[in-house]
Amino acid sequence: MEPGSGPGPGPGQGPGRWAATACVVTGASRGFGRSLARLLAPQLGPGSVLLLLARSAEALAELATELRSGTTGNDTGSDTGSEPELRVQYVAADLGCEEGLRRASAALRELLQDASFGRLLLVNNAGSLGDVSKSFLDLTDLEEINSYFSFNVSSALCLTSTALRAFGARPGCSRTVVNISSLCALEPFPSWALYCCGKAAREMLFRVLALEEPGLRVLSYAPVSRAAPPASGNGDSCGSCPLDTDMQLLARSRTADPGLRQQFQRLKEKGQLIECSVSAQKLLRLLQDDSFPSGAHVDFYDI
Ligand code: NAP
Repeated sequence: MEPGSGPGPGPGQGPGRWAATACVVTGASRGFGRSLARLLAPQLGPGSVLLLLARSAEALAELATELRSGTTGNDTGSDTGSEPELRVQYVAADLGCEEGLRRASAALRELLQDASFGRLLLVNNAGSLGDVSKSFLDLTDLEEINSYFSFNVSSALCLTSTALRAFGARPGCSRTVVNISSLCALEPFPSWALYCCGKAAREMLFRVLALEEPGLRVLSYAPVSRAAPPASGNGDSCGSCPLDTDMQLLARSRTADPGLRQQFQRLKEKGQLIECSVSAQKLLRLLQDDSFPSGAHVDFYDI
């Protein structure tokens, strides 16, 4: 599928709404994924299904209820007459373990066998920081390391390949896969060996996918990444203004490297963390425009 023929509004779908889409967001229970799901829901036209994945059943159920009732200001079908409503489903599963990944994959296969979808949008957002209280030399436990990569790299690969196989290459249908990336895919951060390596590995996986599948739209979006020059001019920037999420709380309280930890603490104190909805809105615009080169790394500050 060429740029521009991706998830823009289809004929008769009305401005801003996409044709019947199977949309999957991992890590949708909180943070960036939750914000993104709330923005995506109103974009999904009649016949669409939004599938939310994460471990926390309660948070997913709450979000699904909110999106079904359209309380985020969306029009998910309450006033669409005979048009089918947006269906919102969720699966609570730990993507870092085999059983959880199996259940998530089964849900994907079941959903995507429906031939009525004209679009697939899969957002691989779920991720973890790992134990950043440990420096490189503390990382001696193979099980801990494998478990980190199993969730942060392998599960994204398996879910994506499962989804693409299940959906198939339907003529006239668009398929877009998003990898939520980071500046850490490109640059090293002290105490963050696992996170940096996981993000770099994941990004390369999706670059390979873009090469192998020219009919696919592939995007690695870094939701914060390169910082604007520090306004104070006091050199406070660590190269990144993070999102205000649980992951960032972990970063500024647990990071072993004191310099990096303190930089995050200062950004928080100065109110310089980025709201998830601001970054999610930029990603949504990228998907609407659909003009990124497939396989590209696009940064929050690029747009
Ligand atoms: P977050 O607040 O920690 O949320 C992570 C999400 O992943 C949650 O929904 C969590 O839900 C889910 N998750 C965690 N472990 C899981 C598991 N084993 N199985 C299934 N789901 C799991 O993180 P965030 O800040 O929103 O980050 C979202 C994405 O943006 C990540 O890929 C992250 O690397 C990236 N990113 C974040 C920042 C930042 O500044 N925060 C910067 C650059 C990139 P449950 O706990 O319910 O499972």
